[in-house]
Amino acid sequence: MDIGFIGLGNMGAPMARRLIEAGHSLVVYDTRNDAVAPFVAIGAKLASSPADLADRVETVMASLPSLQVSEKVAIGAGGVIEGKRVKRFIDLSTTGSRMAIKIADALAKKNIVQIDCPVSGGVGGAAKGTLAVMVSGPKADVDHVKDALAVFGKVFVIGEKPGMAQTMKLANNFLSASAMAATAEAVAMGVKAGLDPAVMIDVINAGSGRSRASDQKFPQSILPRTFDYGFATALMLKDVRLCFEEAKNLDVPHDMMKTTLDDWEATNTEFGGDSDFTSIVKMIENRAGVTIGGKKA
Ligand code: NAD
Repeated sequence: MDIGFIGLGNMGAPMARRLIEAGHSLVVYDTRNDAVAPFVAIGAKLASSPADLADRVETVMASLPSLQVSEKVAIGAGGVIEGKRVKRFIDLSTTGSRMAIKIADALAKKNIVQIDCPVSGGVGGAAKGTLAVMVSGPKADVDHVKDALAVFGKVFVIGEKPGMAQTMKLANNFLSASAMAATAEAVAMGVKAGLDPAVMIDVINAGSGRSRASDQKFPQSILPRTFDYGFATALMLKDVRLCFEEAKNLDVPHDMMKTTLDDWEATNTEFGGDSDFTSIVKMIENRAGVTIGGKKA
């Protein structure tokens, strides 16, 4: 299939690579030259703008860092909406349901179908093709692209209405964000009481406290103190904020979401939006006056 791919960052690059490896032809666009160069080197065509890309293909995918960028790329001036050939816009980014609906409504006026397709499973999952791929959109269009999406991981069709897959993704990411914050507090408590953090993580992973925070993030990026898991603090903060707002709008209790949001806001303030999201552990360490991991771990 001919596919346009916009946004070749931490997630977009490995996903685009998997599409090429599966035999699809790609037209790519990113505002960073260093992001597109490796794809041009392996045969992808380069577009000069989202509109130019959407002039050349029927199916456009995007993996973009913020709601504002998704909106601009999809329906702004020079955006996908101006393309002459495009029939469907698949947003792999996390934008929340309200932005997904706004984009879907604007594109529908030009007979372009929006397909929500947020993903979960991190950069490692994107490289290995083991992501959870959440899709919502009109059945015929979803069926048309399902095989292409399956190269990213396991495809879950959430529903037909725009935004449904986004709501699913926010629920998942809130759980991921809160598990990370909770595990950081639990391990900091143990370390301050004299426990070895590596032993704690082994016990948690053999016990009922296990989560992806304890079985992947702590062993890979926190105990060795590399803080390089590959997801920016600003992106996690965006997801938790979107989830908090979504629950609030739906009048669903959101006390845990509020506490989790406060933790990610503090991490963003102390370490910056570009820091790796595992920096939340450093925020908790600073408050606790302890260091988790390092040589001892
Ligand atoms: P990233 O910042 O690494 O990549 C975004 C890419 O978009 C960059 O290459 C950037 O240059 C490009 N870009 C920015 N503005 C642009 C524009 N106007 N036009 C074209 N390209 C533009 O972000 P990421 O970590 O790859 O995340 C992308 C999306 O995937 C986000 O919505 C994020 O929430 C979601 N996500 C990320 C992860 C993860 O682990 N990193 C996991 C699941 C979902």
